[in-house]
Amino acid sequence: VATRSFLPQSVTPSVVAHSHPFPIADVLGLPIASVTYDQVLAYLDNCLAAKRKTFCVTLNLDLLRLTTEKPNFYKAVKHCDFVFADGMPVLWLAGMNKQNPPLPERVAGCDIAHDLCHLSHSKGYRLFILGAASGVADLAVEKLRAELPHLQVAGTYSPTFSELQNTTQSQAIVDRINAAGTDILLVALGAPKQELWIARNLTSLDVGVILPCGGSIDFIAGVQKKSPQWIGKLGLEWLFRMICNPVRLFDRYIIHDLPFLLRACLQVLNAKERA
Ligand code: UDP
Repeated sequence: VATRSFLPQSVTPSVVAHSHPFPIADVLGLPIASVTYDQVLAYLDNCLAAKRKTFCVTLNLDLLRLTTEKPNFYKAVKHCDFVFADGMPVLWLAGMNKQNPPLPERVAGCDIAHDLCHLSHSKGYRLFILGAASGVADLAVEKLRAELPHLQVAGTYSPTFSELQNTTQSQAIVDRINAAGTDILLVALGAPKQELWIARNLTSLDVGVILPCGGSIDFIAGVQKKSPQWIGKLGLEWLFRMICNPVRLFDRYIIHDLPFLLRACLQVLNAKERA
């Protein structure tokens, strides 16, 4: 008899988010947990131990902008289980509203992804990597295994665009993830595709912690350069990434995110004046 399941035991699967124990800050209508890095990690470890399915979103400025442009993305982020602030601009915006509990620090999604791999190594949780370009997830696993010999890899899979759009093919991916006995699912498909795919398939995913992790697998595999931590602390990781990858990221950061940050600041200040 299989005892291992993250799916609800009721006949009708519930898609209602469970509530976490942390105070919530409101940033443009989204609930951001007021947590330290270590609290996030300990909480996710508990979710895995308690077999509680937990869909996290690591909210940075680019994701926040996308939530204001795409209603279905806003809905996916709003109704996931656990949103934490992955970027100084999100901390700044939260801090501008004094009714918010303080957000103690940035919780970088790529560091959480890496530490979930450590949990797999130390506690035997099975890790599945969905996404990243073909071969990159396997390269990441190879690099990780040199550092974490007991890493438990349930599988890797790099889906095509059409597979992600097609319901039957997506269900086949979900079946593959479930059959592999996955505890931790890292989804590296870029935002908002990764969060939307998870939200669409959440009910049938029988896994513990689900983390959309963007370029984290590229960093682990060494195919993209990760910024030093002090740059992230200054809120300048975007600048580092843009210098490494100007053609792809200039538009995102300079044309879209920078003006959005100014608009978002004004919106928060206006809301404060009206309150
Ligand atoms: N990616 C993918 N399929 C796609 C789009 C992106 O596997 O259809 C992968 C891409 O190879 C990279 C990861 O998603 O490994 C993150 O993409 P991106 O760099 O855009 O995310 P970011 O971290 O910049 O938000």
